[in-house]
Amino acid sequence: MSNYKMNTKCVQAGYTPGNGEPRQIPIIQSTTFKYETSEDMGKLFDLEASGYFYSRLQNPTNDYVAAKIAELEGGAAAMLTSSGQAANFLALFNLCECGSHIVSSSSIYGGTFNLIAVTMAKMGIDVTFVSPDCTEEELDAAFKENTKAVFGESIANPALTVLDIEKFAGAAHKHGVPMIVDNTFPTPVNCRPIEWGADIVVHSTTKYMDGHGAAVGGAIVDAGRFDWMAYKDKFPGLCTPDESYHGITYAEKFGKEGAFITKCTAQLMRDLGCVQSPQNAYILNLGLESLHVRMPRHVENGQAVAEFLEGHPQVSYVNYPGLPSNKYYERAQKYMKGGGCGVVSFELKGGRRAAEIFMKHLKLAAIETHVADARTCCLNPATSTHRQMSEEQLRAAGVPSGLVRISCGLEDKEDLIGDLKQALEAI
Ligand SMILES: *Cc1c(COP(=O)(O)O)cnc(C)c1O
Repeated sequence: MSNYKMNTKCVQAGYTPGNGEPRQIPIIQSTTFKYETSEDMGKLFDLEASGYFYSRLQNPTNDYVAAKIAELEGGAAAMLTSSGQAANFLALFNLCECGSHIVSSSSIYGGTFNLIAVTMAKMGIDVTFVSPDCTEEELDAAFKENTKAVFGESIANPALTVLDIEKFAGAAHKHGVPMIVDNTFPTPVNCRPIEWGADIVVHSTTKYMDGHGAAVGGAIVDAGRFDWMAYKDKFPGLCTPDESYHGITYAEKFGKEGAFITKCTAQLMRDLGCVQSPQNAYILNLGLESLHVRMPRHVENGQAVAEFLEGHPQVSYVNYPGLPSNKYYERAQKYMKGGGCGVVSFELKGGRRAAEIFMKHLKLAAIETHVADARTCCLNPATSTHRQMSEEQLRAAGVPSGLVRISCGLEDKEDLIGDLKQALEAI
């Protein structure tokens, strides 16, 4: 499939049925798999043969879908996880241990920020946050002897900052560590971080990949390029024998292409069990089959809504990387030529009260904490996710009380603009 274009891969990659086999990927709703001899099964446990024995580790339905996502991102191997949070945690923890350090962009999803800054800190894993707009010198200075990875989001949720992937990956490689990019918002249809130097790509498939608000899930893709053995001392988990797995050295046995995902599956999924159900993987695949058709429409609607809002007298500013007035416009043009995503945020001049009235009057855009759905939804952080904060704290956090985030769905853009227009008039 790798020679085909993105549109073809979205529809057909990952699963090729044989003669008389199901056209759609089968849902293998089975916890376990049967063998004729103990010897057959023993080979699987020793990672001497590939096959299935227990769905916590691997399941064929999940593997078809993971293989498709690997192809979409241009990676060598991939795995599914139960959520985006699980994908981020496993990707980082596959490299880190107590005493390790991570360099991360400060402009990331709130859940990931908590994961790294609070929960992983309790495990003895330290982080230095850097501005996504830091200079090369500032970025360089963030690295320590014990740094194991660099992390960032291609388009950050919810700030909509665009990451300079080449710059961050360049710094990571200079310091002998891999670059991890969360590519949830643009999806591989609009941005392929591996082409710009990323080593590992993670996703909350809950968002555009599923695209219908139907199934929570995550994915990890490895480009298969990072030379672990060249930095043996930094990555003992990959480069020295795993005593919990018959003394296997992942980087030796599975090489650059297979080491990261094999270790992450055989060791972390085995122990942590944050597996995606085959039912959810099937639903995710239905979403992937139309990802290349949906993403351009999300972008078209996002762009139209952003342009409409930018010209409206009730609106003080609009944040959308597709607007030439946006700070990240040039960077977005470089990394995502077909546009980024359908999420737009804007501030109402009338503050909290205006936001309340505006949202109450919306008919098509539902109030939800979700984004990246086929149905348009919106959120006022000041009265929901950031409710505990004072006016001053809200402003300092870059979420003034009149800020509204709207995730443009797949409806007709004229209907969406009409809906926004009448709700703005009600203020
Ligand atoms: C939603 C989101 C996550 C978390 O994913 P879940 O599937 O909700 O666990 C991580 N990163 C980004 C960029 C997200 O938007």
